[in-house]
Amino acid sequence: MSTDPEPGSVIVVGGGVVGLACAHYLTDDGLSVTVIDRGAAGGACSAGNCGYICPSHVLPLTEPGAIRMALKSLLNPRAPFRVRPRLSPAMWRWFWQFARRCTHRQMLAAGVHLKAILDSSMSEYRRLVAAEQLACGWESRGLLYVLLTSHGMQEFAATDRLLTEHFGVAARRIEGDQLPELDAALRPGLAGAFLYEDDAHLRPAALTTNWAARLRERGVQIREQCEVEAIVKDGGAVTGLRTNQGVLRAERYVIAAGAWSAQLAGELGCRIPIEPGKGYSVTTTRPEPCPTYPILFPEHRVGATPFADAYRLGSMMEFVGFDDSIPAARIAQLRESAAPYLVTPSGEQEIDRWYGWRPMTPDSLPIIGPAPGLANVLLATGHNMLGMSLATATGKLTAELLAGRSPHIDAAPFSPQRFQ
Ligand SMILES: Cc1cc2nc3c(=O)[nH]c(=O)nc-3n(C[C@H](O)[C@H](O)[C@H](O)COP(=O)(O)OP(=O)(O)OC[C@H]3O[C@@H](n4cnc5c(N)ncnc54)[C@H](O)[C@@H]3O)c2cc1C
Repeated sequence: MSTDPEPGSVIVVGGGVVGLACAHYLTDDGLSVTVIDRGAAGGACSAGNCGYICPSHVLPLTEPGAIRMALKSLLNPRAPFRVRPRLSPAMWRWFWQFARRCTHRQMLAAGVHLKAILDSSMSEYRRLVAAEQLACGWESRGLLYVLLTSHGMQEFAATDRLLTEHFGVAARRIEGDQLPELDAALRPGLAGAFLYEDDAHLRPAALTTNWAARLRERGVQIREQCEVEAIVKDGGAVTGLRTNQGVLRAERYVIAAGAWSAQLAGELGCRIPIEPGKGYSVTTTRPEPCPTYPILFPEHRVGATPFADAYRLGSMMEFVGFDDSIPAARIAQLRESAAPYLVTPSGEQEIDRWYGWRPMTPDSLPIIGPAPGLANVLLATGHNMLGMSLATATGKLTAELLAGRSPHIDAAPFSPQRFQ
């Protein structure tokens, strides 16, 4: 703590996709960046997710009917959504804030802000994937929403209409009898589908591994197994991070600690209402036939993603704290949920079973901007179910805010100030 921090130095806490994206745009500005992670960079929620980069996902979780669905799921152990009631005032406050926002008006308002950051992120991804030649399995095939029943088709058609009318997000409607021709992995007899052609997908771990390697080449220091244990402050600014590898200092700090960000809130002295929303995936060899499109099955709330040499099913949203178990029943449920739709719901050999804790905010918007009360700290966290999709614009916005430039999209809706 004796020397002054290096001029232009920034420490990013958290080496998930969001922290890596922040590091990328901060180095574009010529800053000297260190990323620290208590585990391996890219090893937490950014590892085994479905990998959709999906500007079609403009509707927030806070929608009318979300609370009814949550209450119904309390009685159904197989529901993809699950809450384990526990004595956590922070969790109940979170649910209260969430419930208040489940109105049509709030849904549309949040959707406007999500659309701005989703679109920006997609154009940044397209630019980066081409310019940096990041090997991440990027494919621009769109995202296919497949419906089993005519009721499901009708309900989804209403959602699609809303997306088109309010947000200009349009899909190609495909009738059930055309589906086997579109993708031979789909079973005959399905009701239909909507293809959002502007979406893309990638292999999450390939993105984070190769991005981290690129950042190292650019001079970014990535310190793994380095955990922030305490934050040292002086006069409204952070002066150092006490870690298991000693005290680290920089001029500025970015907190991108995903689902764990709330644990640093006390140290930072501001409110960061993030709850871990646990999801699971199972990765197998490619089934035969393997879907050619990444697919979501809204009626069963499960997603399937084809990769060049593997295949993944992912789903579930559990509010169970930081429970790190992977129940065999949940993995079996992923396969069973895909079975009504796919000729072969999963590949012969299992490669990996995985869980991740999504950083969930009560208003479905990420938290990006200056930490209240601290002159040299920015938060870049709370990306809910869309951290892969939102990472690039988050990095860009963080660099702009840190430099004091005017942001390329309205940053106010994402400000941490909204929760103080
Ligand atoms: C089943 C599932 C499917 C999903 N599918 C998609 C999808 O298709 N598309 C999409 O856009 N999103 C998807 N998501 C959401 C996405 O995975 C997350 O939003 C995203 O990974 C969050 O990234 P992050 O960098 O904020 O967090 P993380 O990747 O969790 O990174 C946070 C990092 O901070 C580190 N850290 C925490 N505390 C400390 C500390 N005190 N000191 C040092 N380091 C610390 C952690 O070790 C961790 O590596 C999915 C999630 C799940 C669970």
